[in-house]
Amino acid sequence: MSITVVGSIAYDAVKTPFGERERMLGGAAVHFALAAAFFDDVRVVGPVGDDFGESELAVLRDRGIDIGDVERIAGGKTFFWRGKYGWDLNSRETLDTQLGVFEGFQPKLSPRSRASDVLFLANIQPDLQRDVRAQLPDARFVALDSMNLWIEIARDSLVDAIEQCDCLILNDAELRQLTDKPNLVSAAREVLSWGDGASRRTARGRGPSVIVAKQGEYGAALVTRERFFALPAYPLETVIDPTGAGDTFAGGFIGYIAASLASGGGGAGASGGGGGASGELSDELLRRAMAHATVLASFNVERFGTERVECLTREEIDARAAELHAITQFSGVG
Ligand code: AMP
Repeated sequence: MSITVVGSIAYDAVKTPFGERERMLGGAAVHFALAAAFFDDVRVVGPVGDDFGESELAVLRDRGIDIGDVERIAGGKTFFWRGKYGWDLNSRETLDTQLGVFEGFQPKLSPRSRASDVLFLANIQPDLQRDVRAQLPDARFVALDSMNLWIEIARDSLVDAIEQCDCLILNDAELRQLTDKPNLVSAAREVLSWGDGASRRTARGRGPSVIVAKQGEYGAALVTRERFFALPAYPLETVIDPTGAGDTFAGGFIGYIAASLASGGGGAGASGGGGGASGELSDELLRRAMAHATVLASFNVERFGTERVECLTREEIDARAAELHAITQFSGVG
């Protein structure tokens, strides 16, 4: 099974208490793709300017990622983001966002990208996410990420995009902002209701049935109609740069799910239906996907930008997943 992802492909300028980079490879789609490629085939859709280097494209290509739909816009400038972190690495300040080539971008997906069974709408303008969604009407599993900026300036379009997905992955504060609910579980329940009410149900009878709330250094929570699950972040002594951790988390989560769907390993026992592929995903599978997502994100933050994940191996992922399993188990109840 293959995964198509649309989202930012960027140059990032980042400063943390532990150092800085003035122009490094970044972007939601890039971080996502590098993580998901450990599990399945990934095709990236998005524009870059003619300032985007061949060596940056090679980072994706070297991981076997299909960059056939990365469009180079002549005379355009690559998306640029500048951010700064203080000692609390959970919160950051955005100092500059330049959409560049994303402004007015009209994605034309190749037949290969349109044929993917899994679609990830990484963080970018919701109109663009909807445009790509419309080009994969038969995808088996569709997930979406977003951020406060789009909640603030394009909420209606974002809600429409979410209603056409099976899974929403969002920071917990943004989930509360999106729904205007004070608490994570009630916020997740609100989004789950967007898919099951007759009034708001999409024409295809779909709507989100899996909600993942990312909680930075505190881990992540999974809410379906029937169940709740949460994992702490993998305990690291050294965190250098959290940029891209959320997208790397999403890459681990969706990549693991896509690979399991391909091998028929969705498992019995729907996690909380609503139709679509998510009805085929067992609670156990979703939990394992959460664990792999947590592991991938933990590697991402060990160095700046994509530097750590670029040299990561599958063996390191498997070893850390086993450690995470060991430290999150307990017995003796019931
Ligand atoms: P994360 O730390 O996982 O939230 O993602 C950080 C990445 O998101 C960076 O590499 C940025 O290039 C990218 N990014 C920041 N702001 C935006 C935005 N408004 N739209 C799309 N991508 C963004």
